[in-house]
Amino acid sequence: MLPQRMCVACRLRGDRGQLIRIVKPKDAPALIDNKGNASGRGAYICKSATCVEKAQKRRALNRALRCEIADSLYQQIHIIIDGGEQNGC
Ligand SMILES: [Zn+2]
Repeated sequence: MLPQRMCVACRLRGDRGQLIRIVKPKDAPALIDNKGNASGRGAYICKSATCVEKAQKRRALNRALRCEIADSLYQQIHIIIDGGEQNGC
């Protein structure tokens, strides 16, 4: 079975640019994989506030990655979605 890039909330598949990859490295808490190639168990979520909220409510990422996901991680995903184009200057 090939790993599919599928949103954990709506289960739709998307292109690389439309999904955010969350990775759980072996010895570190889960984090957002900006480059898309970090090693570890990975899960994807749409760049959509609806999907992030759904995932947080259902703890979908926790289940997909089999670990605790901090609320701050969900907040970081929201920030990426909301301010993806802003560079803070
Ligand atoms: Zn989705």
